[in-house]
Amino acid sequence: MNPLKYLCSTPRGIMVNGLWSTWRKGGLTMTQMMAMPRVQTCTVSGCGYNHDGCTAFAITIGRASSACDTFIDTADKGGMGQAEAQVGACKRAECVHNTELECHAPSIAVGAGLDRADCLTFEAR
Ligand code: SF4
Repeated sequence: MNPLKYLCSTPRGIMVNGLWSTWRKGGLTMTQMMAMPRVQTCTVSGCGYNHDGCTAFAITIGRASSACDTFIDTADKGGMGQAEAQVGACKRAECVHNTELECHAPSIAVGAGLDRADCLTFEAR
């Protein structure tokens, strides 16, 4: 089990290992369990986050052709050091897996499509 990773916090809650939690007086209570889909595979070897898979904490899928907006063509090394990326947000509302601009697929695959890095799990409604 990995140590807890805090992504962000707000007055209403924090994200721990991809799960939103809310604060309660005297302790932390899980009130909203929202697991983010894993980026199961990413074959875009030219991306600064790809080291044997996507090592970004979370990615954003964009509107046009399901492009990965997190993709960056650079020799710089980015990421968390482990290929455990999640889908943080998706703008592709016309996908069957998309509800309120969040992905609800079990996991996704990223690779070359119309762009160098696209969500290959996209499925039109
Ligand atoms: S599967 Fe659909 S909803 Fe999920 S990231 Fe890909 S395009 Fe977005």
